[in-house]
Amino acid sequence: MGRVIAVANQKGGVGKTTTAINLAASFAAAEVNTLLVDCDPQSNATSGLGFIKDPERVSSYHLLLGAATAEEALLTTELEQLWLIPAHKNLIGANLELVDAEGREYRMRDALAPLRERFQFIVLDCPPALDLLTLNALVAADAVLIPMQAEYFALEGISELLDTIERIREALNPSLGIEGVVLTMLDERTNLAQQVMAELKNYFGAKLCQTTVPRNIRLAEAPSHGKAALVYDPRSKGAESYIRLAKEIIERQTADVGPQTSESVTTEEHSGEAVVEEIAAPAGEMDKTA
Ligand code: ATP
Ligand code: MG
Repeated sequence: MGRVIAVANQKGGVGKTTTAINLAASFAAAEVNTLLVDCDPQSNATSGLGFIKDPERVSSYHLLLGAATAEEALLTTELEQLWLIPAHKNLIGANLELVDAEGREYRMRDALAPLRERFQFIVLDCPPALDLLTLNALVAADAVLIPMQAEYFALEGISELLDTIERIREALNPSLGIEGVVLTMLDERTNLAQQVMAELKNYFGAKLCQTTVPRNIRLAEAPSHGKAALVYDPRSKGAESYIRLAKEIIERQTADVGPQTSESVTTEEHSGEAVVEEIAAPAGEMDKTA
């Protein structure tokens, strides 16, 4: 059974889409079948892989509305082992259209269920909001990957995200774990970045991914060419960092299914709120905006 990872942070512009595209492409380049699902009406993951806007195309909107199957929405991409379920801006309407619908939080999970055997990784790119679209992604997911910028206000709003994750665990998806927190657009040379990194390490502990993503112009250019960075410029620091991140996540998953040691005990072994408590515990002790 594949692993479903939602890339989420309600803060805008922190690198969710860049992470979703390049992580998914890196999984595919590591020769595992991977599906990227664009869950954001902005459709940046869709255009970032070179698909022009097309209101006629079957998209994540149709999945949420129950108007099409995930199979019908699948698009092949330039990478042999990467598939995409695109989004369209009409997805914004799903928030309202589903407001009274039964099981509205389970739509994405149910739609993706038939595909879970086929893909080793399913990566969901979320919008910058804790709305019904993100909720659907978090209910469908096994774990959430949180991209964050190492900036002064990095932790602002993160407790809201962690609270949401906790509520989802209690009510809708008890097995939702935290894949990790990944630092994006990092300029390690600055004192501020070093300081924020140390604080995030203190706050998130082992959940802070070892791999960090540097600020890299190739990552910003690649989507305008409709390509993942590893296709656009495989030797760029940006492409390399996402290849490392994919490796880190694959290795962690392999360790999880192998013999259990204290090191390999991660999200799956924690029940319910344990992970959030574990990572949220130091929150009271530090200035969350620092
Ligand atoms: P939104 O909240 O609007 O969905 P997002 O969290 O998905 O935004 P991105 O779209 O991935 O964020 O990134 C925001 C901007 O920063 C984009 O222009 C992207 O190209 C650029 N960017 C992201 N990561 C990097 C990086 N490591 N180096 C340079 N530019 C980056
Ligand atoms: Mg985005």
